[in-house]
Amino acid sequence: LTDRLSSAFRHLRSKGRLTDADIDGTIREIRRALLDADVALEVVRPFTARIRERALGEEVSQALNPAQQVVRIVNEELTTILGAGVDRPLNVAKNPPTVIMLAGLQGAGKTTLAGKLGYWLRDAGHTPILVAADLQRPNAVTQLQVVGERAGVPVYAPQKGVQSDGGEAVASPGMTSGDPVAVARDAVELARTKLYDTVIIDTAGRLGVDEDLMRQARDIRDAVHPDEILFVIDAMIGQDAVRTAEAFDKGVDFTGVVLSKLDGDARGGAALSVASVTGKPILFASTGEGLKDFEVFHPDRMASRILDMGDILTLIEQAQRQFDEEEARKATRKMSEGTFGLDDFMDQLQQVRKLGSMKSLLGMIPGMAQHRRELEQFDEKEIDRTEAIIQSMTPEERRNPDIIDGSRRARIAYGAGTTVSAVNGLLQRFEQAATMMRRMANRGMNGVIPGFGG
Ligand code: GDP
Ligand code: MG
Repeated sequence: LTDRLSSAFRHLRSKGRLTDADIDGTIREIRRALLDADVALEVVRPFTARIRERALGEEVSQALNPAQQVVRIVNEELTTILGAGVDRPLNVAKNPPTVIMLAGLQGAGKTTLAGKLGYWLRDAGHTPILVAADLQRPNAVTQLQVVGERAGVPVYAPQKGVQSDGGEAVASPGMTSGDPVAVARDAVELARTKLYDTVIIDTAGRLGVDEDLMRQARDIRDAVHPDEILFVIDAMIGQDAVRTAEAFDKGVDFTGVVLSKLDGDARGGAALSVASVTGKPILFASTGEGLKDFEVFHPDRMASRILDMGDILTLIEQAQRQFDEEEARKATRKMSEGTFGLDDFMDQLQQVRKLGSMKSLLGMIPGMAQHRRELEQFDEKEIDRTEAIIQSMTPEERRNPDIIDGSRRARIAYGAGTTVSAVNGLLQRFEQAATMMRRMANRGMNGVIPGFGG
């Protein structure tokens, strides 16, 4: 039985491959959504080309319309690219201290992140220390000290040595003011002797990429051999993301990305741009100015945000409505011609199943709970059972259910692995649906499947 069923479904599902015509419109929408989200043009092009290539090879799905199929592929690709480093914990040194260096443009959020990381690590039982290696701006050191105090994490700064949160100032050995490389090196040395297990080095940034700055960052890196070099990038940066990320990738060869200012209204295209051109994992997201506005990066959420799934879903719904209306028109015509049979009933069920498979798609999107509840009403297993019964009928029986007598019902039930009363129930529902559709056809309305599951 299972073999017969699955071959029947295979037949149902292999109605050919997706064509250009099926996917062009959707690809166009996706391209627009990506550009709206400020994904860099040089990233959008190869991305959509890859989507098209994958979509063209796909078998036409019974469960999803072409637009949905393309969006499903887009979602998968996005989540794969964005999720390259997901669940990767921070690199930790074999022999403490672990050294984390922050790099990025001025205003990206490095100093703020130093505080967040420090707070987060301290909360997890670590003993971090922040290091002020940004000696470029006059008040950069003070800013880090304020951040450190708020986070309850000591700060190592060139003039004042270590300031613990208890207010105790520890003189730093071999203090050199003015040289960020020496400050970083001294801080790591101090951490080793004073048993701080993590050293977080805040570095200077410029408004634009700058070779002097990059050399300084590289010198710090080569002096302290960080276990982790985090590239901090403002999510609002837009089209400049690619150039900036490439410069820092080449300049300091960072090991991970932190996306900052995700609390703003940027759609986050920078995330896709950076991940695409560098292949480096995005580890964290910064979502505000507060110490706790910091989280592990979620690729699936970012995928929805970039695509603006609200828009995309509207597109899908439109495509679907069109498709459904066509099907409904066909069914209505058959009704009025008196040729609506169980095969048509099954087509209608497939439409319902299509809605069911929207469930998983909708599940990813916040704020769609209401639609979700509507969809929960559809029991896909019930549809499976119904289809199994219809599959067990002969073509003649499907066209003309009136001939299905007692012995035929027993045979059908046996073939579908179910009971006669289940077959009776289905025929009854079909009769109800047919009556209702006849009524609606007479009123000239487009019907969906009435009375199903009731
Ligand atoms: P740095 O130059 O890279 O050290 O950047 P800062 O840490 O000094 O941050 C620059 C500005 O951005 C400051 O006003 C921060 O309060 C703000 N900022 C940093 N991270 C975030 C964030 O995730 N969300 C928001 N809204 N503001 C942030
Ligand atoms: Mg700073």
